[in-house]
Amino acid sequence: MYHYISAPPTPNDRLRYNLSVPPAEFELHLDMLQRLGYTTISLYDLYAHLKDGAPLPPKPVVLTFDDGYLDAYTEAFPRLKARKMTGTFFIVTDFINFRNPNHLTWAMAREMAEAGMSIEPHSRTHPDLRNRSHNFLVWEILGPIEQITYYAYGERRRPRFFCYPSGQYDDHVIRFLKTVDIWAAVTTQPGLVHTLQNAYTWSRQRVLPGMNAKQFARLLGESV
Ligand SMILES: [Zn+2]
Repeated sequence: MYHYISAPPTPNDRLRYNLSVPPAEFELHLDMLQRLGYTTISLYDLYAHLKDGAPLPPKPVVLTFDDGYLDAYTEAFPRLKARKMTGTFFIVTDFINFRNPNHLTWAMAREMAEAGMSIEPHSRTHPDLRNRSHNFLVWEILGPIEQITYYAYGERRRPRFFCYPSGQYDDHVIRFLKTVDIWAAVTTQPGLVHTLQNAYTWSRQRVLPGMNAKQFARLLGESV
């Protein structure tokens, strides 16, 4: 789980600092994944494997990027593309709709999707989704699904995965995701085991800035 692929503008901003992996470090991570024999896959690949037994490459790994920051396009995307790797980008659609300059544009999201990246919803405005009405969830979850279908995937497919804003959810949100045909959702809880049984609470390993090779390998579940 990545957020920003850029150095934080102010090093004293601890929250932003911990969400920011500088591009040079990100490149080292990709090099290490290749050296250790990992193959990046999409959540679609993972789901097809769990559901239908579709084969996966040895050492599969899903790289996720939250919030749809501009550096997903300027820093992460070109480095993934150059290595023929894939990434899953969870976007907050109103940041795009209102042309927030720190976020992607729909043209960028579409270009990334056409180059084999997954563009999936992370809500409309990034609210806490717990204890909300049905209508609120329609606005925050179904709206983004429809916009991504149209603007990023050109109506050739629709998103099937969801990322809870700040990792927060309740049973109502999970039930809602099932009714709108979302197949699985990711949290911010750490872990390495993903099954159909825990599909609406899939764990992710948080990549922090300044990790050394050993720490990064441990995150992958390597015994080092
Ligand atoms: Zn987020």
